[in-house]
Amino acid sequence: MQFKTIIEPFRIKSVEPISLSTEEQRIQYLKEAHYNPFLLKSEQVIIDFLTDSGTSAMSSNQWAAMMNGDESYAGARSWERFQKAVFSLTSMPHILPTHQGRAAERILYSHLGGKGRYFISNTHFDTTRANIEYSGAEAIDIPCEEAHDYTSNFPFKGNMDVEKLEKLILEKGPDNVSAVILTVTNNSGGGQPVNMENAKDVAKICKKYGVLYVLDCCRVAENAYFIKHNEKEYADKTYKEIAQEMFAMCDAAVMSAKKDALVNMGGFLAMRNKHLADECTQLLIITEGFATYGGLSGRDMEAIAVGLDEVFDADYLHYRIRSTQYLGENIRKKGVPIIYPVGGHAVYIDAKALYPHIPVDQYPGQALVCELYRIGGIRAVEIGSLMFGKYDENGKLIPAPMELVRLAIPRRVYTQSHVDYVIEVFDEIIRTKDKARGLNVTLEPQFLRHFTAHLEML
Ligand SMILES: *Cc1c(COP(=O)(O)O)cnc(C)c1O
Repeated sequence: MQFKTIIEPFRIKSVEPISLSTEEQRIQYLKEAHYNPFLLKSEQVIIDFLTDSGTSAMSSNQWAAMMNGDESYAGARSWERFQKAVFSLTSMPHILPTHQGRAAERILYSHLGGKGRYFISNTHFDTTRANIEYSGAEAIDIPCEEAHDYTSNFPFKGNMDVEKLEKLILEKGPDNVSAVILTVTNNSGGGQPVNMENAKDVAKICKKYGVLYVLDCCRVAENAYFIKHNEKEYADKTYKEIAQEMFAMCDAAVMSAKKDALVNMGGFLAMRNKHLADECTQLLIITEGFATYGGLSGRDMEAIAVGLDEVFDADYLHYRIRSTQYLGENIRKKGVPIIYPVGGHAVYIDAKALYPHIPVDQYPGQALVCELYRIGGIRAVEIGSLMFGKYDENGKLIPAPMELVRLAIPRRVYTQSHVDYVIEVFDEIIRTKDKARGLNVTLEPQFLRHFTAHLEML
């Protein structure tokens, strides 16, 4: 008997209270935070969907492993466990522990980058792009054609456009392309998965032209779930075998352990080439730490080693992906326009379609973010013109291509009744949608303005 209700495959051993608030209080909090939820205190939030990064709940096994942390400066037992766990997944012999994903990126891309160099990706995540551009190199995104259609059922919209990839490599010259980076799942592309066929095609092209192939593997377990269920040849493989096959094709991997390693902080850089690894190890020692701990304490490495094993548990992954889909599909049924199909770690809402009466220079995405907080105490993030908009020389807004709002789901943190509550909040969002108002930016920093900008309601 297959039941419809998917239960959380864990029991709760330790709880953290949520402080509930009234709508009146939230109206005041929102005003005090200048209509920017990044400026809210976490105690003022009921359901925090700001990010899935570093927000996982650790298991009792991870906490137990932390007590076994070996904090020796060199050659610690915890390093050996960490190295073994990363090696069993990646089969890459050179592994550098870093304090988070961007530290691994900074080391690899500052070494490979520089003026006149190119990096090509399905979509560069923002820290990836920032590290590449900071080195003087150029980052080029080539998502597949299907990625642009937000309503079709195509299951692998995270794929890279392989025809464009070969053309680009020839156009830029293979010697000028520092790396091809495949991001799984494609975070900035709506958390959409990449299939094995695409990963193989990319591998073939990289091999043909001698270009380094890097896997940005933050969500490689979630990606494996989609491959097993939507790519026929993989139906009988385990999730871990699928991930291993993907790593086996690549020359290097960067990971933010704050995602699929189920920890609150950490990351790594793994490589096959010894010469490249030696160069990167020098940079690791300068900025992160000695080679056998890098940016991490022994207990952190223990928690990552356990997390990398737990994340491939079939029951966990089923619950994880299905609960994200449950949220997306249920609000879609109510008429909320979302990016479809639902990706692994988040639901993305098309705020421009929800609020057609709010022009893009009044930030419909931010309007929805504020409404979600006011009505339900839900914290989400705008991924639209507040985050990515630029100004022309006359000070007119050049809008982002889309006005999205992301509901990112922390791992193992919220239960089905929390998700049901969020779905219910959307009833009110829909009922009052014509009354939602746009916003005006009153104060903005020069870089990454969405983090600290102040706004006012129009
Ligand atoms: C989160 C993330 C990073 C950066 O990792 P941090 O741990 O936040 O520094 C890089 N790439 C992708 C795809 C990510 O999701």
